[in-house]
Parts: sequence; structure tokens; C-alpha cells
Amino acid sequence: MSSRHRVLVVGAGGLGSPVLRLLAESAVEHVTVVDDDVVEESNLHRQTLYTEEDLGRPKIECAKERLLDASPKLSVSVVEGRFVPSTATKLLDGHTLVVEGADNLATKFLVADAAHLAQIPAVQAGAVRWNGWAWCALPDSACLRCLFEDIPQDRVETCAEAGVVGPVVGVLGGLQAALIFRLLAGERPGGELWHYHALEGVLRQTRVRRRSDCPLCTGEIQDLRMERYTTPCVA
Ligand SMILES: [Zn+2]
Repeated sequence: MSSRHRVLVVGAGGLGSPVLRLLAESAVEHVTVVDDDVVEESNLHRQTLYTEEDLGRPKIECAKERLLDASPKLSVSVVEGRFVPSTATKLLDGHTLVVEGADNLATKFLVADAAHLAQIPAVQAGAVRWNGWAWCALPDSACLRCLFEDIPQDRVETCAEAGVVGPVVGVLGGLQAALIFRLLAGERPGGELWHYHALEGVLRQTRVRRRSDCPLCTGEIQDLRMERYTTPCVA
């Protein structure tokens, strides 16, 4: 596994917690964590990076401490804020891949678009209640827009509103970490979509193909203008 990898992690919540713990044990050179939340009591059952002593503290501060506890030689930087169009390209700069575990679809599309334009892999996941998905896009594989076409304009429940079961984000964060480790080992899991349905006890993998009319893969989308990511899903 290469030690030259620099990983940007967008979101240090339920998905980011297992991802960050596992990244700390990997041979990556540098991790940057972007998040704008503080630790709340309702987070603790699924955001396993944090304890009661962290309540009220910024997640990025706590996450940095946990990463350095686990791996003192790891280079860690943190950015307090949201991943938004005006800063996305700059935040990705210097990173070899991006991992996303945000709680809204607009950020997921922004990460996907920004990663594709920067020509780096994106490992993404989402979860609501008992179900979720994890996925990897490479610059030359299917992208998130091949998979979901566009951000739904109807109001979509976020995991913060609908709730998510702790073990579901644990499994999906673990799957994200597995995809990352495979990328670091030189594999190419681009286009792999993992679906997890906890109540049915089903974990299923499918391979997504590029859509010939995908606006990102065909080069129609060339920038990250704000209106593409302004939806009712964004708080
Ligand atoms: Zn595409």
C-alpha cells in the first residue's frame, strides 16, 4: 500500500467515524477532515469516534485527536465548514482521493462533480433508517450522475430527519474503507455499488455502467456553479 496518498474526508459523522478510524490504521500519508458540526448527544449511538466528554466540541477537533492517538505519525489537517461549490476545488487540491459521508444529496453531487473534474476517485455513501449504499467512482468509470441522474427536486428526507440505525452506518463506513484500501492497493473498484438492507440481512453488489447521456461523463458539466447544488435537500 502506498504511503503517498492524501485523503480528503467530507463529513465526520456516522459514516466518517468508521472511515476515519480505519484510515488511521492505514498507511495513508495525510488526512484532511471537513465538517461544520459539534458533537451532540443524539450522535453518540452511531458516531463512534466521539464520547460523552466531547459533547459541544467541534467534530473536527475531536476527530483530529482520535486520529493522532491512533497514529501519531499521520499528518492531519481539519477544515471547519461545509463542502460548498466556492471552496470545493481548492479543498480537493493536493488530495489523491475524496471520501464523502455527508447527510444530504446536494453535497454528494457536488463531491462527485468536483472529484470527476479534478480527475480523482470518489468513495461515497448514504444511509437512511435500515438501508444504505456505498460506492466508488473513478475518473474513467460511471459517476454518481450515471447512477442517480440528478438531485431530486422533491423534498428528500435526510438521515438527520428520518434517523439512521447505528450499525447501518457502521457497515457502510466499513465498506467505504474497504473500497479505499482496495484503491490504495492498486485495484480499480470504479462503478461498484454496494447496497445494504439491514432488516432483510442483504448486502448486494452491482456494477454500474456509464450512461451515454450523462452530463458529467460527456463533459457537459465543466464547473461547480452554485445553482446546480441548490435544492430543497440543502439545509
Ligand atoms: Zn456519469
